[in-house]
Amino acid sequence: MKKLTLKKIILLLFISSVFTLAVFLGLNNKNNFNSINNENDKRQSIILSVYKFYSIGFSVENRPINITEIGYGNDIGIVLIGCIHGDESNTGELVNMLKEKYLAAPELIPDNLRMYFLPEYNIDGKLNESRYNSNNVDLNRNFPVENWESDAYTDGCIQTSSGGTAPGSEPETAALIQWIINNVKKTVKHIVVISFHNQYSPTGVVQPGYIEYETPGDKSNPLAQFIAEKSGYIYLECWISDIQLTGELINWCETQGIVSVDLELPDNNSPETIPSGKTETTINTIEYVLEQLLLYYKISN
Ligand SMILES: [Zn+2]
Repeated sequence: MKKLTLKKIILLLFISSVFTLAVFLGLNNKNNFNSINNENDKRQSIILSVYKFYSIGFSVENRPINITEIGYGNDIGIVLIGCIHGDESNTGELVNMLKEKYLAAPELIPDNLRMYFLPEYNIDGKLNESRYNSNNVDLNRNFPVENWESDAYTDGCIQTSSGGTAPGSEPETAALIQWIINNVKKTVKHIVVISFHNQYSPTGVVQPGYIEYETPGDKSNPLAQFIAEKSGYIYLECWISDIQLTGELINWCETQGIVSVDLELPDNNSPETIPSGKTETTINTIEYVLEQLLLYYKISN
């Protein structure tokens, strides 16, 4: 008898908690329904529900590498990367400003698109005001492409082990690769990566990823030309230096079928200033480029 009573009590408690939850959800839905009084509000609430802030891994000094993801489209994912070279801090500032803009107005992102902001990729380098990560590796020489070298040409000369101990040896490199393959590639059909650098003075430059040296990649080339045209920056088929650059991010992207460009800003000043010889601030120029890019990729329903 005693046992049965206990069971009854538990059952009653269960039923009453389910009822309370149902009433609560009902009221909540009602409130939401009242506040959603037109299509725009409805869309806004959908977008707000798909903001994501997360880290893709950790740096050598164990700092999180943070991403902000905005939008809910599954056709195209646009990845904006700042500070792959830690001392190029205005690239991080720029990606942060763009992130804030789209966080404040997510309705600017078309339904079929999704945007990923990675402002301080080389977070240790950024905080240490260094081009390199905390193992003294240039992350943009560490990606697993055919021409990878441990002793890489960087910052004007060949530097011992600046390409890392092996292709993809650095935690930051591994984190980005794993995230792209395991997350982004499974979420969107096509990926576009724009990696910001400084400085190509006074014009600014856009260069596509490639597989064969001096041959612009089929995937990335149209994007590089598009961005060059919209930004007024110079289009460069391939970065010609004294020695071939090895293990670069955008070239790894091209091997993965990912559309990718390096975008070198005209100076290392704040994006809110007008570079010498230009008529617009850097942030205005890049905002315009992105608007045009979103329009280009938008699928009209
Ligand atoms: Zn750079």
